[in-house]
Amino acid sequence: MSSNQTDVVFFDENGLRTDQRKPDEIRPMKIKIGVLSRANGSCYLEWGANKILAAVYGPREAHPRRIQLANRAVIRYRYNMQSFSVEDRARPGPSRRSSEISKVSREAFEPVLFPEDYPKAAIDIFVEVLQADAGTRTAAINAASLALVDAGIPMRGLVSACAAGKVDGKIVLDLNKPEDNYGDADLPIAMTEDGKITLIQMDGHLTPSEFEEAMDLVQKGCRQVLEIQKAALLEKFASVMDDDDEEV
Ligand code: UDP
Repeated sequence: MSSNQTDVVFFDENGLRTDQRKPDEIRPMKIKIGVLSRANGSCYLEWGANKILAAVYGPREAHPRRIQLANRAVIRYRYNMQSFSVEDRARPGPSRRSSEISKVSREAFEPVLFPEDYPKAAIDIFVEVLQADAGTRTAAINAASLALVDAGIPMRGLVSACAAGKVDGKIVLDLNKPEDNYGDADLPIAMTEDGKITLIQMDGHLTPSEFEEAMDLVQKGCRQVLEIQKAALLEKFASVMDDDDEEV
């Protein structure tokens, strides 16, 4: 057994983590697409104990009018953590943390969208964290990506997100809560289907070689997430595709 100064035991005698995962394993993910009838697109996603709801509206006329851009759509992304989503009640309303996450998540989607095709319009992405257990920004991006597809918004491809980190001197994939709280580093990224990184953040310290190892691992994590996202889309839209085939 190994632990750090906080007395958290991160690995058992078989090298498995606190939730019995291998170092390079992501938490189980469950996805349901199209769960809200008012939104143009929506997705409910569970990743480990994280529970996320994403809703997408647009492209629609941007309001208030003063935010309209003459030659492109504005993209808005709001990440919000419900008060009841965490152990200690989260203060309602925007915070520095949620504003930062909203900004970097919006930027993670800009390269895959076609805002120049929708002057004066808005594409609105809302994500609500209903239950948080580390990795909510990456879980939210994965849900938002599918809600955008559900809304029928043209995209160059999906965006998939995952984090890697360092606990007890080892590089691991998709940190859980104790690993996030008491580990040494957290490296969330978002990636397009063709491997372009559209979000990268880092909390804590990694040596250059640890950083390389973590980047390698986290990109593998994103590719695993992409397969799960694609499977969820196929499950949701396979019947629609079958209907289309019949019509031809
Ligand atoms: N957290 C919390 N209260 C807060 C912010 C975060 O309890 O106000 C918890 C929550 O479980 C979250 C985790 O700490 O998932 C890690 O937060 P971080 O800021 O690293 O973002 P995340 O990993 O969720 O993207």
